Amino acid sequence: MYDLVVKNGKLVTPDRIYEADIAVKDGVYSAFLAKGTVAEAKEVIDAKGNYVFPGIIDCHAHLNEPGFEHREDFETGSRAAAVAGCTCLIDMPLNNDPSLMNKEIFDLKMGRISKHSVIDYALWGGIVGDYDNQPGSVKNNMNDLVDLHNCGVAAFKGFTCPNGDLFPTVNMGNVRKALEILKPYNALCGFHCEEFGQVLEREKEAKAREGRSDEEKIRDFLDSHDVWTEYVATKNVIDMARATGGRVHICHVSHPMVAQVVKDAIHEGLPVTAETCPHYLGFTEDFVFEKGAPAKCTPPMRTKEDMEKLWDYVLDGTLSCVGSDHSPAADEEKDNATKDIWHAWGGLNAIQFFLPMMFDMVVNKKGLSPTLIAEVMDYNPAKVFGLYGKKGAFELGFDGDIVIVDPDKEWKCRQEELLTKGHVSCFDGLEGKGAPVYTIIRGKVVAADGSYNEDAVGYGMYVTPADAR
Ligand SMILES: [Zn+2]
Repeated sequence: MYDLVVKNGKLVTPDRIYEADIAVKDGVYSAFLAKGTVAEAKEVIDAKGNYVFPGIIDCHAHLNEPGFEHREDFETGSRAAAVAGCTCLIDMPLNNDPSLMNKEIFDLKMGRISKHSVIDYALWGGIVGDYDNQPGSVKNNMNDLVDLHNCGVAAFKGFTCPNGDLFPTVNMGNVRKALEILKPYNALCGFHCEEFGQVLEREKEAKAREGRSDEEKIRDFLDSHDVWTEYVATKNVIDMARATGGRVHICHVSHPMVAQVVKDAIHEGLPVTAETCPHYLGFTEDFVFEKGAPAKCTPPMRTKEDMEKLWDYVLDGTLSCVGSDHSPAADEEKDNATKDIWHAWGGLNAIQFFLPMMFDMVVNKKGLSPTLIAEVMDYNPAKVFGLYGKKGAFELGFDGDIVIVDPDKEWKCRQEELLTKGHVSCFDGLEGKGAPVYTIIRGKVVAADGSYNEDAVGYGMYVTPADAR
């Protein structure tokens, strides 16, 4: 007898859509049956002809625990993710206090987050550099990287631009050193790519201008983070992959010029991968002017022409993953009434409509097949982050993760109803079609029809590349 059978679904994989029933036992896929096969199970869910994905992985999310729980914690962030159809997320090491940069902090962090995640999770470890605006002061974590790798982190993250004392910027010396250290372990190193010098110089100059209107300040902010900052940092980081042979991942690519650099590197045979986010695929700088503080993120949203062209790089496989870059804030940190663009928090409340937004863009607006969703939001992230073997495909023995999506279900983002801790979202009022009706992890329903299952708080498990092998 199976624990769960999901019948009458259309299974979606990167290369096809087909009808089959799915049986889960002891938390893993135990059989794929011809549609309509009578199978005894403790629980049967009728997918009613809807699309069924083998999970959705958000490879880039900031749940802010420990240290910034006033913005988000693992319970609030992961319940919103569950409702969004995510079965697994990969949490960032920054916007944490302390940032995840050694084994001691890993133990501290796990002690907190393991108690209340609704969905499965993996972790990014931090690479922190020795630049802290204090000449002669050296603080980096190069000697902790191997220990952190042994804790099972799925990837490492470094920041190439100014990012505060809790997560010091990496210079190219740090990048090179980290890649040299981690290469023997085949570990992935991802970078937020905006070049330090340009961002610092351009922000300083722009902030010094007097008498700027709110709209002019937004123009200044966008210009301070223009494509050249992202382009130069990306090229530098890729050069370090070329120098060391270490695996590099370019986080949240926002612009086709940057994507082309990644594409060239891949064609050259370098170990380079990259991701983008829904906000770069569906929104432009006009949206930042319209929404103000709630739409502030870095890199910022680009022009309409850039946005349209970025799709080409998703379709040709250059930008192989799509992550939400959910980086939430307390409401007052995103308040247009009290915060201009310079003083607002830079990050979006983006996780709860992650899959609905992508589904609507891919299937309804672009007229593409949902197979693209299975590719960039599940299969590729599982492969890139080493979780394939447990996650990423309908294969016997993989985790029994099942996301049922009704393509006709209409949705609307109402910020006051968000399950995240903060409620201000630039996506407030956004509407679309196609939403998850069931999010199932290892055979258990963790969310259904827009509500999460309170029984699932603490159910989410830590997933590591070593476990997935
Ligand atoms: Zn991020």
